[in-house]
Amino acid sequence: MNAIIFGAPGSGKGTYASRLQAKLGVDVIAMGDIFREIMKEDTALGRKVKGYVEKGLLVPDEIVVDVLKHRLAKIPKGKGFILDGYPRTLEQAKILGGIAKIDVIILLMVPDWIIIERLSTRRICKNCGAVYNIRFLKPKVENVCDKCGGPLYQRSDDTPEVIKNRIQIYEEQTKPILQFFEKLKVPFVVARCDALDMPPEKVVDAILRDLGKLKLA
Ligand code: ADP
Ligand code: ZN
Repeated sequence: MNAIIFGAPGSGKGTYASRLQAKLGVDVIAMGDIFREIMKEDTALGRKVKGYVEKGLLVPDEIVVDVLKHRLAKIPKGKGFILDGYPRTLEQAKILGGIAKIDVIILLMVPDWIIIERLSTRRICKNCGAVYNIRFLKPKVENVCDKCGGPLYQRSDDTPEVIKNRIQIYEEQTKPILQFFEKLKVPFVVARCDALDMPPEKVVDAILRDLGKLKLA
Protein backbone atom coordinates (compact mmCIF):
# COMPACT_ATOMS: atom_id res chain seq x y z
CA MET A 1 0.00 0.00 0.00
CA ASN A 2 1.25 3.45 -0.96
CA ALA A 3 -0.55 6.18 0.96
CA ILE A 4 -0.41 9.90 1.53
CA ILE A 5 -1.35 11.08 4.99
CA PHE A 6 -2.84 14.50 4.53
CA GLY A 7 -3.87 17.21 6.94
CA ALA A 8 -3.03 20.60 8.41
CA PRO A 9 0.12 21.12 10.47
CA GLY A 10 -0.56 19.60 13.86
CA SER A 11 -3.41 17.42 12.61
CA GLY A 12 -1.45 14.37 13.79
CA LYS A 13 0.11 13.11 10.56
CA GLY A 14 3.38 12.10 12.20
CA THR A 15 1.72 10.56 15.24
CA TYR A 16 -0.66 8.39 13.22
CA ALA A 17 1.85 7.56 10.49
CA SER A 18 4.32 6.09 12.98
CA ARG A 19 1.57 3.95 14.54
CA LEU A 20 0.33 2.81 11.12
CA GLN A 21 3.90 1.96 10.18
CA ALA A 22 4.13 -0.44 13.12
CA LYS A 23 0.80 -2.11 12.27
CA LEU A 24 1.15 -2.29 8.49
CA GLY A 25 4.88 -2.83 8.04
CA VAL A 26 5.24 0.05 5.60
CA ASP A 27 7.92 2.73 5.47
CA VAL A 28 7.09 6.28 6.51
CA ILE A 29 8.63 9.13 4.57
CA ALA A 30 8.28 12.21 6.75
CA MET A 31 9.50 15.24 4.84
CA GLY A 32 9.64 17.50 7.90
CA ASP A 33 11.82 14.96 9.76
CA ILE A 34 14.14 14.69 6.77
CA PHE A 35 14.47 18.47 6.60
CA ARG A 36 15.15 18.70 10.34
CA GLU A 37 17.99 16.21 9.87
CA ILE A 38 19.35 18.24 6.94
CA MET A 39 19.12 21.43 9.05
CA LYS A 40 21.36 19.92 11.72
CA GLU A 41 24.21 19.80 9.21
CA ASP A 42 26.36 22.87 8.78
CA THR A 43 26.19 22.76 4.98
CA ALA A 44 24.94 25.19 2.34
CA LEU A 45 21.83 23.03 1.91
CA GLY A 46 21.28 22.83 5.68
CA ARG A 47 21.44 26.62 6.06
CA LYS A 48 19.18 27.17 3.07
CA VAL A 49 16.51 24.74 4.33
CA LYS A 50 16.66 26.27 7.81
CA GLY A 51 15.89 29.71 6.37
CA TYR A 52 12.53 28.43 5.10
CA VAL A 53 11.50 26.00 7.83
CA GLU A 54 12.13 28.41 10.72
CA LYS A 55 9.84 31.00 9.14
CA GLY A 56 7.14 28.42 8.46
CA LEU A 57 7.65 28.78 4.69
CA LEU A 58 7.73 25.94 2.20
CA VAL A 59 11.10 24.66 1.05
CA PRO A 60 11.36 25.21 -2.76
CA ASP A 61 9.97 22.38 -4.90
CA GLU A 62 13.35 21.57 -6.60
CA ILE A 63 14.92 20.74 -3.24
CA VAL A 64 11.87 18.85 -1.97
CA VAL A 65 11.51 16.70 -5.07
CA ASP A 66 15.19 15.82 -5.05
CA VAL A 67 15.01 14.76 -1.40
CA LEU A 68 11.88 12.70 -2.06
CA LYS A 69 13.41 10.83 -4.99
CA HIS A 70 16.47 9.90 -2.93
CA ARG A 71 14.28 8.64 -0.09
CA LEU A 72 11.91 6.67 -2.34
CA ALA A 73 14.88 4.95 -3.97
CA LYS A 74 15.77 3.44 -0.57
CA ILE A 75 12.46 1.60 -0.17
CA PRO A 76 12.84 -2.13 -0.80
CA LYS A 77 10.93 -3.46 -3.79
CA GLY A 78 7.41 -4.53 -2.87
CA LYS A 79 7.33 -2.59 0.39
CA GLY A 80 4.66 0.10 0.72
CA PHE A 81 5.04 3.60 2.11
CA ILE A 82 3.18 6.42 3.76
CA LEU A 83 4.08 9.93 2.67
CA ASP A 84 3.84 12.48 5.47
CA GLY A 85 4.33 16.10 4.44
CA TYR A 86 4.43 15.51 0.71
CA PRO A 87 2.93 16.83 -1.53
CA ARG A 88 2.40 20.34 -0.17
CA THR A 89 1.98 22.17 -3.49
CA LEU A 90 0.04 21.30 -6.63
CA GLU A 91 3.34 21.13 -8.52
CA GLN A 92 4.66 18.53 -6.03
CA ALA A 93 1.45 16.51 -6.47
CA LYS A 94 1.83 16.48 -10.25
CA ILE A 95 5.48 15.43 -10.06
CA LEU A 96 4.56 12.58 -7.68
CA GLY A 97 2.35 11.07 -10.39
CA GLY A 98 5.45 10.50 -12.49
CA ILE A 99 7.37 8.82 -9.65
CA ALA A 100 4.96 6.60 -7.70
CA LYS A 101 1.47 5.13 -7.67
CA ILE A 102 -0.74 6.27 -4.79
CA ASP A 103 -3.46 3.86 -3.59
CA VAL A 104 -5.14 5.98 -0.95
CA ILE A 105 -5.25 9.38 0.74
CA ILE A 106 -5.66 9.32 4.50
CA LEU A 107 -7.24 12.68 5.25
CA LEU A 108 -7.17 14.06 8.78
CA MET A 109 -9.87 16.58 9.64
CA VAL A 110 -9.13 18.57 12.76
CA PRO A 111 -10.58 21.95 13.76
CA ASP A 112 -8.20 24.94 13.91
CA TRP A 113 -8.54 25.51 17.63
CA ILE A 114 -7.29 21.99 18.36
CA ILE A 115 -4.36 22.44 15.98
CA ILE A 116 -3.20 25.65 17.63
CA GLU A 117 -3.58 24.20 21.11
CA ARG A 118 -1.66 21.06 20.15
CA LEU A 119 1.22 22.67 18.28
CA SER A 120 2.04 25.10 21.03
CA THR A 121 2.32 22.27 23.57
CA ARG A 122 4.07 19.77 21.28
CA ARG A 123 7.47 18.28 22.09
CA ILE A 124 9.72 16.19 19.84
CA CYS A 125 12.45 13.66 20.68
CA LYS A 126 15.79 15.08 19.58
CA ASN A 127 17.08 11.59 18.96
CA CYS A 128 14.29 9.63 17.19
CA GLY A 129 11.71 12.30 16.26
CA ALA A 130 8.85 10.73 18.29
CA VAL A 131 6.06 13.23 18.99
CA TYR A 132 4.69 14.07 22.46
CA ASN A 133 2.49 16.71 23.99
CA ILE A 134 3.04 18.14 27.46
CA ARG A 135 -0.72 18.19 28.08
CA PHE A 136 -2.34 15.45 26.02
CA LEU A 137 0.32 12.91 25.15
CA LYS A 138 2.81 13.02 27.98
CA PRO A 139 5.94 10.89 28.10
CA LYS A 140 6.24 8.61 31.14
CA VAL A 141 9.15 10.69 32.44
CA GLU A 142 9.03 14.45 31.90
CA ASN A 143 11.14 15.59 28.92
CA VAL A 144 12.40 12.06 28.19
CA CYS A 145 11.41 9.96 25.16
CA ASP A 146 9.53 6.72 26.06
CA LYS A 147 10.98 4.95 23.05
CA CYS A 148 14.67 5.79 23.15
CA GLY A 149 15.39 7.84 26.28
CA GLY A 150 16.38 10.87 24.18
CA PRO A 151 15.72 14.45 25.33
CA LEU A 152 12.54 16.23 24.19
CA TYR A 153 12.56 19.73 22.69
CA GLN A 154 10.16 22.26 21.23
CA ARG A 155 10.45 22.81 17.48
CA SER A 156 11.57 26.31 16.51
CA ASP A 157 8.55 26.56 14.16
CA ASP A 158 6.04 25.66 16.89
CA THR A 159 5.69 29.29 18.01
CA PRO A 160 2.38 31.21 17.68
CA GLU A 161 3.54 33.52 14.85
CA VAL A 162 5.08 30.72 12.76
CA ILE A 163 2.14 28.36 13.43
CA LYS A 164 -0.13 31.05 11.93
CA ASN A 165 2.02 31.14 8.78
CA ARG A 166 2.00 27.37 8.44
CA ILE A 167 -1.78 27.11 8.76
CA GLN A 168 -2.24 29.87 6.18
CA ILE A 169 0.09 28.13 3.71
CA TYR A 170 -1.80 24.88 4.27
CA GLU A 171 -5.13 26.54 3.48
CA GLU A 172 -3.82 28.38 0.41
CA GLN A 173 -1.33 26.02 -1.20
CA THR A 174 -1.76 22.53 0.23
CA LYS A 175 -5.50 22.00 0.66
CA PRO A 176 -6.28 22.56 -3.07
CA ILE A 177 -4.23 19.42 -3.81
CA LEU A 178 -7.17 17.33 -2.55
CA GLN A 179 -9.21 18.22 -5.62
CA PHE A 180 -6.34 17.05 -7.81
CA PHE A 181 -6.45 13.56 -6.25
CA GLU A 182 -10.26 13.49 -6.29
CA LYS A 183 -10.16 14.03 -10.05
CA LEU A 184 -7.71 11.14 -10.38
CA LYS A 185 -10.25 9.01 -8.42
CA VAL A 186 -7.78 8.10 -5.70
CA PRO A 187 -9.84 6.72 -2.77
CA PHE A 188 -9.97 8.71 0.48
CA VAL A 189 -10.08 7.51 4.06
CA VAL A 190 -11.27 10.34 6.29
CA ALA A 191 -10.37 10.45 9.97
CA ARG A 192 -11.99 13.07 12.18
CA CYS A 193 -10.72 14.26 15.49
CA ASP A 194 -12.81 16.78 17.40
CA ALA A 195 -11.61 16.39 20.95
CA LEU A 196 -8.25 17.47 22.33
CA ASP A 197 -7.83 14.35 24.42
CA MET A 198 -8.87 11.80 21.78
CA PRO A 199 -6.43 8.87 22.14
CA PRO A 200 -4.36 8.33 18.96
CA GLU A 201 -5.15 4.58 19.06
CA LYS A 202 -8.84 5.32 18.52
CA VAL A 203 -8.14 7.33 15.39
CA VAL A 204 -5.64 4.75 14.12
CA ASP A 205 -8.16 1.91 14.61
CA ALA A 206 -10.75 3.84 12.60
CA ILE A 207 -8.22 4.39 9.81
CA LEU A 208 -7.25 0.70 9.79
CA ARG A 209 -10.91 -0.32 9.61
CA ASP A 210 -11.49 1.90 6.59
CA LEU A 211 -8.27 0.74 4.91
CA GLY A 212 -9.53 -2.81 5.43
CA LYS A 213 -12.75 -1.99 3.59
CA LEU A 214 -10.61 -0.87 0.65
CA LYS A 215 -8.61 -4.13 0.96
CA LEU A 216 -5.47 -2.13 1.76
CA ALA A 217 -4.96 -3.40 5.32
P1 ADP B 1 3.87 20.16 10.08
O1 ADP B 1 3.09 19.24 9.22
O2 ADP B 1 3.67 19.96 11.53
O3 ADP B 1 3.79 21.60 9.68
P2 ADP B 1 6.41 19.05 9.06
O4 ADP B 1 7.34 18.48 10.06
O5 ADP B 1 5.72 18.14 8.12
O6 ADP B 1 5.42 19.92 9.90
O7 ADP B 1 7.19 20.15 8.19
C1 ADP B 1 7.92 21.18 8.79
C2 ADP B 1 8.41 22.19 7.75
O8 ADP B 1 9.25 21.53 6.77
C3 ADP B 1 7.32 22.86 6.90
O9 ADP B 1 6.73 23.95 7.59
C4 ADP B 1 8.14 23.28 5.68
O10 ADP B 1 8.93 24.42 5.96
C5 ADP B 1 9.08 22.11 5.47
N1 ADP B 1 8.49 21.09 4.56
C6 ADP B 1 8.12 19.83 4.89
N2 ADP B 1 7.61 19.17 3.83
C7 ADP B 1 7.65 20.04 2.79
C8 ADP B 1 7.24 19.99 1.41
N3 ADP B 1 6.70 18.88 0.89
N4 ADP B 1 7.44 21.08 0.65
C9 ADP B 1 7.99 22.19 1.15
N5 ADP B 1 8.38 22.33 2.43
C10 ADP B 1 8.21 21.28 3.25
ZN1 ZN C 1 13.18 9.09 21.02
